[in-house]
Amino acid sequence: MLLQEQREQVVEYGKKLVTSRLSTGTFGNISVFDRSKNLLAISPSGMDYFATSPEDVVILDPDGTIVDGSRKPSSELDLHCILYRNRPDVGAVVHTHSLFATVLSCMHWSIEQIHYLIAYAGHEVPCTRYHPFGTPELAEAAWAAMGNEVNACLLGNHGLLAVGGTLSFAFDVAQQMEFVAQLTYYTRLAGGGVLLSSAEMAGARKAFSQYRK
Ligand code: 13P
Ligand code: ZN
Repeated sequence: MLLQEQREQVVEYGKKLVTSRLSTGTFGNISVFDRSKNLLAISPSGMDYFATSPEDVVILDPDGTIVDGSRKPSSELDLHCILYRNRPDVGAVVHTHSLFATVLSCMHWSIEQIHYLIAYAGHEVPCTRYHPFGTPELAEAAWAAMGNEVNACLLGNHGLLAVGGTLSFAFDVAQQMEFVAQLTYYTRLAGGGVLLSSAEMAGARKAFSQYRK
């Protein structure tokens, strides 16, 4: 089966989305890009993560043409493809509706530089304005907000988008941004936290480059 390994990863991390409480029901979506083959594997649309098997994962090129699979690909296909087309460093995309990230997205707040773990995203995580799910406008807004610098953005009144070189890293970004979103929410409620400076963030990013090595 084409992209067997990536299909299995999509299935495994789809279940983790639910068990890690990053999404509920069939919401959120996941993809992995094989740059050498110029093909991506993406979760099927509206399908229970625990009922999804590798054959249900859809294989496409980054322009959105289906190469293999009988299921409907995620409605957020454009959101995934725009990052693969524009960012050579991106090998996986994770979209969640995790609670605190979504609360912040409904406030149109960013995830603040309040804790060093924001280094997973690079720095402060911006929020787009609202666009309906599954639209090219949403994909364009997310790409404009993230550019080449940030590994995540909030989708206004919707949820979180996270990217990484690998699916494992993109998932870590999504999980840690949920944590920092929670800290942003509570510290703002308490009157506003002390933000880290650019120099402190540069130090955190440097320390991270050595973490788990
Ligand atoms: P799909 O089930 O089509 O991937 O859509 C879920 C979602 O979160 C839309 O934003
Ligand atoms: Zn969504």
